[in-house]
Amino acid sequence: MSLNSQIEWTDATWNPVRGCVKVSPGCKHCYAETFAERFRGVKGHPYEQGFDLRLVPDKLFDPLLWRSPKLVFVNSMSDLFQDGVPDNYVEIVARVMTTAEWHTYQVLTKRGERLRQLLCGELRLAAAQENIWWGVSVEDRRYGLPRIAHLQAAPARVRFLSIEPLLEDLGEIDLSGISWVIVGGESGPGARPMRREWVVSIRNQCKAARVPFFFKQWGGVRKVRNGRVLDGRTYDEYPTRHIVQVPDKATCTSFAESLRKTLSDPLCQRGVVQLTA
Ligand code: SF4
Repeated sequence: MSLNSQIEWTDATWNPVRGCVKVSPGCKHCYAETFAERFRGVKGHPYEQGFDLRLVPDKLFDPLLWRSPKLVFVNSMSDLFQDGVPDNYVEIVARVMTTAEWHTYQVLTKRGERLRQLLCGELRLAAAQENIWWGVSVEDRRYGLPRIAHLQAAPARVRFLSIEPLLEDLGEIDLSGISWVIVGGESGPGARPMRREWVVSIRNQCKAARVPFFFKQWGGVRKVRNGRVLDGRTYDEYPTRHIVQVPDKATCTSFAESLRKTLSDPLCQRGVVQLTA
């Protein structure tokens, strides 16, 4: 877990899965891939295998041991709902989030269909939790907008949209049941441009629908210089956080130990999840 994330809309990142497979135009300049591939072949580095998909069971129970409440971006270096992650591994991640409920989790995916299927089934309990925010990425009309419909069809208590990188005008968006919208432009070499009117349209729709709006950045090749001011101000709105008292250290440790025992042994025996890093 990284406690001081550089990502503007979170405090920390937690990656029980590493690596991913690209699925749509929003993945073209995936920052996670660029970062991970830098370390391919570096012995002992967490990204020794580059951006290849890999379960990281050693990291599964970290949030239980982290006692200061955080806003946690789950799988900032991956996508929890990609095909290669077994259902029961996703369930374990959800069990940790429901147990370590003093944190608020942001689970973001480009696999809206599988998110909907699992939240309607095995993850129904986690879907109803106030401390887990479920979100989809929306970069364009063709790939992004259908993900919103999947999210709306899922029984999630808190739903959000990460509209980043915004690649075109999205037109009128159905914001029913959505609790938060983040917008941002692409950054780095080769960044695709984002027009002001596309952003203003989304901001105005959020305002009309009373949905909290977070403007992350204009992006571009000079991300820092371009900043994140829109019409003379910044937008840093969030949904309401659910506050839960943190148990004492011994209780947290015992949560982690009992979850590790009850979850890992039977799964290893069945060979469904290989609990090896
Ligand atoms: S889904 Fe996300 S993590 Fe996976 S390749 Fe696309 S941008 Fe990268």
